[in-house]
Amino acid sequence: MEDKSYQIQEVDRIYEVQSAADNLQRIKNTSTKERLQKIKKIQQYILTPTNQTALEKALWNDLKKSKNELLITEIAPVLTSIKHIKSRLKAWMRDHYVEAPITMLGIQSRIKYEPKGHVLIIAPWNYPFQLVLNPLIHAIAAGNVVTIKPSEIAAHTAAFIKKMITVLFDENEIAVIEGDIPVTTAILEKPYHHIFFTGSPKVGKIVMTAAAKHLCSVTLELGGKSPVIVDDSVNIKKVASQIAWAKSMNAGQVCIAPDYLLIHESKKEKFIEEFGFAISRFFEKGNSSIQASKEYCRIINERNFLRLQGLLDSAKAKGARVAYGGQSDVNDLFISPTLLDNVNDDMPILQEEIFGPILPMISFKSIEEVPKIINQQAKPLAFYIMSKRKKNIEYLLNHSSAGGTGINELMISTINPHLPFGGVNNSGIGKSNGKFSFIEFSNERGVLKRKFADFKMLYPPISDKIAKLIVRLSRM
Ligand code: NAD
Repeated sequence: MEDKSYQIQEVDRIYEVQSAADNLQRIKNTSTKERLQKIKKIQQYILTPTNQTALEKALWNDLKKSKNELLITEIAPVLTSIKHIKSRLKAWMRDHYVEAPITMLGIQSRIKYEPKGHVLIIAPWNYPFQLVLNPLIHAIAAGNVVTIKPSEIAAHTAAFIKKMITVLFDENEIAVIEGDIPVTTAILEKPYHHIFFTGSPKVGKIVMTAAAKHLCSVTLELGGKSPVIVDDSVNIKKVASQIAWAKSMNAGQVCIAPDYLLIHESKKEKFIEEFGFAISRFFEKGNSSIQASKEYCRIINERNFLRLQGLLDSAKAKGARVAYGGQSDVNDLFISPTLLDNVNDDMPILQEEIFGPILPMISFKSIEEVPKIINQQAKPLAFYIMSKRKKNIEYLLNHSSAGGTGINELMISTINPHLPFGGVNNSGIGKSNGKFSFIEFSNERGVLKRKFADFKMLYPPISDKIAKLIVRLSRM
């Protein structure tokens, strides 16, 4: 990364180059074919073995992410989106003709999808590649000029992305600005036409405040405390394995990871036992311990390690019990998957998003207790119901609100490009994936065209007869 004053000068320079009216107009008018060519260039770059090896190295240096996890969670989602866009972009870009009320007789109505213009993508560090690439390809599909601000915390991946974009594109089309908070603050002063931000609710508020100065629209993909509810009807071995998988993926540093567990009291002890067995199966086979496993990620940096250790220590000091795991090593940024029992609302671990491999457990006797506990928190990004009882599933769905919901399935809500992905209020504003992302990056422009007849009868003075006729027709 370059020095700070240079980076801030770069913010000004790149903004000037990209936001020039003729540049925006040129990119706006690109055809489906031209936009797809850009996306295909990205696809080819990603699929080139030497580039994949470089990305692998970058993600290992940033997060100790294993090769196979990288393929599944960083590369495959981008390839899925590219495939989806390739087969649908033509239809998405086409004007969409709509019906009109009878009072608009003679007028044709359509929606024209025009690009927002100059858009900014700000990304977090936990999936530092796909959380840049996925919004990027949709922003390109919608015909925008794009500025990318990757996370400075995953600096190796940010450098990989910068190199890739510099090799593939002119900076007036797509540019990457690396940098930390002061650089991002300088970027946020610019009047972009749309900001697509992925990160914490705290920084989401900063982004939205900055955007408000220019009445710039935002998509905020945020986080929060996502609950997983396990009732007494489940196969606990299966469910414990699912939750162990979800909570250990990326060492729990996933926005849609279960943050805390609500479990029927009759299932808790067996859950703890089966969770432990699952972790052993996943990471300890052939290794002296989970810490020796190449499949288990590390915490991104010391600041986040100490934050997690602080949450764990303060919970223990207030009476929480480590029911499983609890090992940590600051020198290796390692925290083992951990279950916490005897937790209560006074503990910060039940107040803040954990974003790590620690799972506090709250037990309940009847399903009616669950919404009261969950609804004390802001609306979550993900909401997981593990149950075989339709009645319980419907009850929980109808007594809560969340960005998305998984029933007997965890973590895969981002994968289906036909489903909107995103939060609600504190967990996010706007939706992404497939056409939902295309629309976020587009202005849905309503266009009316007079084909025949006219509105002369509405010119003043309007007769009583005409006014009554309009009211009557409006009700038809
Ligand atoms: P973060 O909010 O700290 O940072 C995100 C981005 O904002 C980074 O690029 C960072 O440089 C920038 N930033 C940080 N502080 C800033 C400030 N004061 N002013 C301007 N910019 C600032 O988030 P993070 O720690 O990188 O990621 C973790 C958070 O992201 C969690 O809350 C997680 O739930 C959320 N997340 C959400 C999704 C989703 O799709 N909804 C996906 C991944 C992560």
